[in-house]
Amino acid sequence: MAGVIKCRAAVAWGANQALALEEIEVAAPEADEVRIRIVATSLCHTDLSFLGMVQAKFPRLLGHEAAGIIESVGEGVEDLKVGDHVLPVYMGECGKCRPCKSQASNLCEKYWPLLRTTMMLHPVDQKSRFSVTKDGRNQPILSFFTSTFSEYTVVKADCCAKISQEVPLDKACLFACGVSTGLGAVWNIAKVHAGSAVAIFGLGTIGLAVADGARSAGASRIIGVDTNPSKFELAKKFGVTDFVNPNDHEAPIQQVLQGLTKGGVDYAFECVGKVDLMAAALESTREVGALLHPRLSFLYVIMRKM
Ligand SMILES: [Zn+2]
Ligand SMILES: [Zn+2]
Repeated sequence: MAGVIKCRAAVAWGANQALALEEIEVAAPEADEVRIRIVATSLCHTDLSFLGMVQAKFPRLLGHEAAGIIESVGEGVEDLKVGDHVLPVYMGECGKCRPCKSQASNLCEKYWPLLRTTMMLHPVDQKSRFSVTKDGRNQPILSFFTSTFSEYTVVKADCCAKISQEVPLDKACLFACGVSTGLGAVWNIAKVHAGSAVAIFGLGTIGLAVADGARSAGASRIIGVDTNPSKFELAKKFGVTDFVNPNDHEAPIQQVLQGLTKGGVDYAFECVGKVDLMAAALESTREVGALLHPRLSFLYVIMRKM
């Protein structure tokens, strides 16, 4: 039987405060759960956004773009075993509900509502799985998504994607959020077609993954939009063919893109998370109708006019 593990974690003690390295306790996995030794975790902008939320409760364990190795499994876990390499993913899939079975959505009816509330509370006593002793007092640490800023985390087995042992974990971790968000937007949501023109607003991890996905889908023109010109050289390697810096133009960026493409792009991907950019992205597409995915707007918005 697995017991409590003491390990190091970067704990958020309050909004906009620097994370503090602490020794914490991580509970053993309950039924249908696994405990993972986190080998690599990267920083996603969503962690920073949450850290800036003054109304949020703390202390909290952030982090959700990680890769690791299963350390122990709870009762009833059959498809994962100790030693498996996995990506903890915050959007679990029960595999049985209508969205899980649909090709159009992965907003699982079981896990989507739990995402930011009770995802990692103990099923019996509803307590947190993470705690820290400070000034002689043991107090719970709240979870956030998969809480990977820790040497160990506990997640539902349904929140794990098993990966090949040959993939380096320090690179695979990017697939737990940024890269899968970008590729999924191109392949599963927008379904970019060969020969199309694509605009990408923001060339961070998601934007570069969008470029890579669009290139593999056969897009003939991939326009990267970013205010930081030093990103263009790297973006070229991911398939970006044109670069537009909004600061170089007096006209609104949507007009610039409309002019560049003689009527607008076929697909626009907003990969920054700013409302005014979402509007600009929509207005940079061809005027033949519109499709918007507002429920996913906290990560990205995809516009396709068809
Ligand atoms: Zn993320
Ligand atoms: Zn489901």
